[in-house]
Order: sequence, then C-alpha cells, then structure tokens
Amino acid sequence: MGRPSDPTMIDLRSDTVTKPSDRMREAARDADVGDDVYRDDPTVNELERRAAELVGTEAALYVPSGTMGNQIAIRVHTDRGEELLLEQESHIHRWEVGGAAQLSAVQTRLVDAGDRCVPTPEQVWEAYVEESLHRPGTGLLCLENTHNYRGGIAVPKEFVDAAAETAGELGVPVHLDGARLFNAGVALDTPADELVENVDSVMFCLSKGLGAPVGSMLAGSREFIAEARRIRKLFGGGMRQAGVIAAPGLVALENVDRLADDHENARLLASELDDLEGLRSPEPETNVVVVDSSELGMTAEEFVAACENAGVGAGAFDEYTTRLCTHRDVSGADIEAAVERIESIVESFEA
Ligand SMILES: *Cc1c(COP(=O)(O)O)cnc(C)c1O
Repeated sequence: MGRPSDPTMIDLRSDTVTKPSDRMREAARDADVGDDVYRDDPTVNELERRAAELVGTEAALYVPSGTMGNQIAIRVHTDRGEELLLEQESHIHRWEVGGAAQLSAVQTRLVDAGDRCVPTPEQVWEAYVEESLHRPGTGLLCLENTHNYRGGIAVPKEFVDAAAETAGELGVPVHLDGARLFNAGVALDTPADELVENVDSVMFCLSKGLGAPVGSMLAGSREFIAEARRIRKLFGGGMRQAGVIAAPGLVALENVDRLADDHENARLLASELDDLEGLRSPEPETNVVVVDSSELGMTAEEFVAACENAGVGAGAFDEYTTRLCTHRDVSGADIEAAVERIESIVESFEA
C-alpha cells in the first residue's frame, strides 16, 4: 500500500486523478479528427460549440490545461506593465508559477477577500489604479469560483456580479477562473451560464470533476476568442488531431449532474474526520475537504506522508492543513475505508 499507482490506494490528492471511462475511451477511438490548427477537427469544433452554449458565450476555445486558459486570458485582456488584480489566495497567484509576470509582463496587486472569496465592490474601488504618468493602470480583475484554496467555496452569483459590475464601471475587464465552475453551479443550484453572465471571459476544466483525461475550455466573446486562439498558438498550445482528446471532453460535459455525488461524499468525509480526536474539518460546500491537524500536533507534511503509508492520497496545503478531494473514481465505500485508514493514523500518532 502507499504508492499512488497502487490499486488499493484511495487517491484523494485531487479530482484530476480520474481515469477516462470506457465511454470516453471509445469516444476517443471513434472520434472524427482533422488538423485543429487549421480548424479542421470536427470534434474540437463541436466541443467548442457545446462549451460556449453551456456557459452562454459567443465562442469557446479548447486548451490543453486550465493554467494555459487562465494565462491566455490574462495576455489577451492586458497590456504589458498593467496591473492585474487578484485575490490573495487565488490559483493564478499561488499555483501558476508566476506566469502572469513571465508571460504577460503584468504587475500583480492582491486583495484579501477572506471567506467571501471575491473582493467586495469597495475593495475593487480601493485597489483600482488609474493610468497616469507614474502609474500603470489596472488592466484586469480575476475572480475564482469555486475558490480552491479557501476550501472549494461556491461563490454566490451576487458576489461575482457585484465585483464585475464595479470593475465594469471602472472600465476593467473581468476573467473568471472557473476551473470548478460546475461544482459551484451544482452547489448553489444556479446554472453555470447565470454564474458567468457578467464576466468577460471564463475558463473551466474538463479534467477535474467532469472526468476528462485532458483539457480545459476558455470562453468569451467571438473577438476575445479569436485573439485567444492566436495567443494559444504563441504559448505552444495549438494542437493537431486533438479530436482524440476532445471527444472524451464532450462525454465529460454530460457529467455535470453527478458532481452532486462528489459533494455528498465530501460532506461524509469531512464530518467523519471532524469526529476524530485532533482533526478539524469544516463542512465542505463542494468536493474539496480541508483537514486541520494542528491539535494533533502533526504537520500537514507528516499527515500526508502518514496518509500515503496508510493508503490514502492527500495533498498538503499549508503548515497544518491538508486537502482531500472527492471525485468520480471514489465511492461512498472508499470514503468509509479512507476514514478508517486515517483513524488508524490518528490513534497510532497519539500512542
Ligand atoms: C486546477 C486549477 C487550475 C488549473 O488547471 P490545470 O488544468 O491543472 O492547469 C486553475 N484554477 C483553479 C482554481 C484550479 O483548481
């Protein structure tokens, strides 16, 4: 037990670890393909059409990863040297290797939105920088829904709209990092197209809870996507017979409703872990479970290593917090088994 490749491992490191279903593999095999850089791939074209329809935009673009989707959006929306307004714990700031500075030459200004996850209109006003002889000007506001690092929080539409409306008044475009947009939609019982109604562009991942092996979608206006297509080429993301990976992506779009099962499994996992001596796990809103092991006196790094030894995959978030994600390849029974394994860690650590 203990290696992520071990079949007995219950892998909760991320919702990206799902393996393609038989239907996805069949769709990949049978896909009609062409050279997508020439826009000849009918399967990619269909995926882009369906994705745009789902989020209610004019157009969409298939990209190899969520990170590339976010970075393309930043590049399209901003000019060199402008300010990028980001939430302090956003994925773009924390986990994208400083890409905005490297690929778009923008300067970042951070806002701490706390549990609200997106800045208030007042925070947007205060952080806004007007272009002048001395100042660069604010080029873009990025929001995130669900908010990964703050625990998979589903941000209500009114918070997104309030921030977007203020940015709009200031002439600042808004990009939404919606890697787990559909988790937010399911948790809030709000259709995805309504959640993104007031932003200028949105990225969502096919390769997380929706279960596709590869890829994310970037969506927005026809004009935005035309420029995004050029930048995708620049960043090395122009793909050829990509229908082979887009076909499972189309199957993945049918998996939106089943995200509710992941949310239920996450609630079960958190409530059982919270009952264990020394562990604290607040009730999750979506499929991200955060566990605090400080009362136990165990760092996240130690906790993750112990989990791996016991056959549970987890990921350290912070000094004392660990993230566990539920997904399509773990069942309710797997969750019960994971809790038993973690219980044995807690008991032997106290002894
Ligand atoms: C996973 C994730 C991304 C990036 O997606 P990749 O496909 O892993 O590059 C971006 N934003 C958030 C919030 C994410 O959780």
